[in-house]
Amino acid sequence: MAMGDTSCDVLVAGGGNAALCAAITARRAGASVIVVEGASKFYRGGNTRHTRNLRCAHDEGNEILTGPYSEEEFWDDLMRVTGGQTDEDLARFTIAESKELWDWMTGAGVHFQQPLGGTLNLGRTNAFFLGGGRAMLNALYAEAERLGVDIRYDSPVTELEIDNGFFSSATVAGPGGGGYRIRARSLVTAAGGFEANIEWLKEYWGDKADNFLIRGTANNRGSILRLLLDNGVEPVGDPTQCHAVAIDARSPKFDGGIVTRLDCVVFGIVMNNACERFYDEGEDVWPKRYAIWGRLVADQPDQIAYIVFDHKAMGLFMPSVYPAIEAPSLPELADKLDLDPEAFERTVTDYNAAVREGTFNSQELDDCHTEGLSPPKSHWARRIDTAPFYAYPVRPGITFTYLGTRVNREAKILMQGGRPSANIYAAGEIMAGNVLGKGYLAGIGMTIGAVFGRVAGKEAARNARN
Ligand SMILES: Cc1cc2nc3c(=O)[nH]c(=O)nc-3n(C[C@H](O)[C@H](O)[C@H](O)COP(=O)(O)OP(=O)(O)OC[C@H]3O[C@@H](n4cnc5c(N)ncnc54)[C@H](O)[C@@H]3O)c2cc1C
Repeated sequence: MAMGDTSCDVLVAGGGNAALCAAITARRAGASVIVVEGASKFYRGGNTRHTRNLRCAHDEGNEILTGPYSEEEFWDDLMRVTGGQTDEDLARFTIAESKELWDWMTGAGVHFQQPLGGTLNLGRTNAFFLGGGRAMLNALYAEAERLGVDIRYDSPVTELEIDNGFFSSATVAGPGGGGYRIRARSLVTAAGGFEANIEWLKEYWGDKADNFLIRGTANNRGSILRLLLDNGVEPVGDPTQCHAVAIDARSPKFDGGIVTRLDCVVFGIVMNNACERFYDEGEDVWPKRYAIWGRLVADQPDQIAYIVFDHKAMGLFMPSVYPAIEAPSLPELADKLDLDPEAFERTVTDYNAAVREGTFNSQELDDCHTEGLSPPKSHWARRIDTAPFYAYPVRPGITFTYLGTRVNREAKILMQGGRPSANIYAAGEIMAGNVLGKGYLAGIGMTIGAVFGRVAGKEAARNARN
C-alpha cells in the first residue's frame, strides 16, 4: 500500500443523515467503519443540516406526535403525491421500517420537540428535531465517535475502483489535497443528489439553470452518483425532475436553507418581469401547491417573479429572512422593483376589477375568487388596495434532484440488467428516486435516508464478515 493508504470493513461515503445512520449501524454490528465526508467539519452533514423533521408511521400518539398515523395512511399519502410512481415493495418497506425510527433516533441521542406551527400542519405525521437538523446531526456524530467510527472531513471521494459490480477501493482527496486509497469490504454510498452541480442541471434545463438558487449544500455535486452510473449501475428516477420551490431572490446561491422560502403566494398575485400574471395563485391549499412554484418561476423570463400583496396580507404567513420590499403606492413599488410602473399598475387594477370578495378564510378554500380574469385566482382573492404595498422577488430554489441509483430491499445497488452488485450499498437522496418517482411528501427525505441508512449499515457489515 502507498503512504496514507488504509483499509476497513465498511467505507461510508457522505456525511449526512443516511451516512451516519449507516455508519452507526455497521459499527454496532462489529465492523470497522470509516466515514469520508467531502465537506469540512463546520459544514458537515449536507442537506440534513437544513431539515426540521422526519415522517414516521406510528400506531398511537406520544408526548410529541399528536395522534396515530397508520402505515396505510402513510401509503395513501405517498400514492397521492407520486401518482403511483414508486416501487411499491420498497415504499411499503420504508413505511413499515419508519415505525422504528423514533426509538432508534432517541437511542442515538437525538431529541424531538413539539411540532412547529406554520403552513404545513405536520404535528401528527412528522417528528420535529429539537434544535433542527444540525442538532440531530451533532447527536449522530457524537454517537458515531463514541462507538469508534473513524470520521474524516474535507475528504471527498474522487474515484471508485469497481470491477463488474465489485468494489475494492476508493480514492479520497485528503485535506491537504493529496489523494490516497481506502480499501474496504463494503461501500455505502450516501452522498446526496446532484442539485449543486449547475453544469449537470443545465443538461436538462439549459441556461435557465444559471439562475437557479440551491437551497442546500454546495457539496452535493453528484460526483459519486456519476462514478456509479459510469460503472454500470442502474439509474432510477427522472433526470429532468427536481424538487423546486419559490424562494427569495436575494438568497445566497447555496445553503440559504428554509428561511428563504416564501409562503405568501396565496395572499397576493404573482407576476413576471413583464408584469404578467402566469398562474392561478389560489388554485388549492398551499401544502398541495408550494412545490409547483419553483418550476413555474423557472419558466418565466430571466427566471424571476414578484409576489405582490398589500397591508391586509401582512401577518398571515411566515416571512422570509429578508424584509418585504415596501412602498406607499403601486407606482413607487414598481419603481423599487425596477418594473414598468404602468404595466405593473394595469395588472393590479385588472386583477382588482375581477375580484369577487366573499368570506375570506386563510385556513381553508374560501369563496373569494376572480371572474373573467386569465389566469384566474380561484381562492383568497382580495383587492390589492390598502397601503403600504409589498413585494418579494422570487427565484426557483432547488431542494434536490430525483435521479439516483436503483437498489433492492438490502439497500444493495443494482447493476444494469437488475443483478445486485457484490458489495455496494446506497442510502438517502442518492437512491430516494426508488420510492419517490415524482412529487414530494414533507419529511420523507429523512425517512428514506434513515431507513435505508440503517439497512445499508447492517447489510454492509454482514457482507464484510462473510
Ligand atoms: C432547505 C431544505 C430543507 C429540508 N427539510 C427537510 C425536512 O424537514 N425533512 C426531510 O425529510 N427532508 C428535508 N429536506 C431534504 C433532506 O435534506 C434530504 O432528503 C436529506 O438530508 C438527504 O440526506 P442524505 O444523507 O442522503 O444527504 P445529505 O444530508 O445531503 O448528505 C450528503 C453528504 O454527502 C457529502 N458528499 C457529497 N459528495 C461527496 C463526495 N464525493 N465524497 C464524500 N462526501 C460527499 C456531502 O458533503 C454531504 O455531507 C430538506 C432539504 C433542504 C435543502
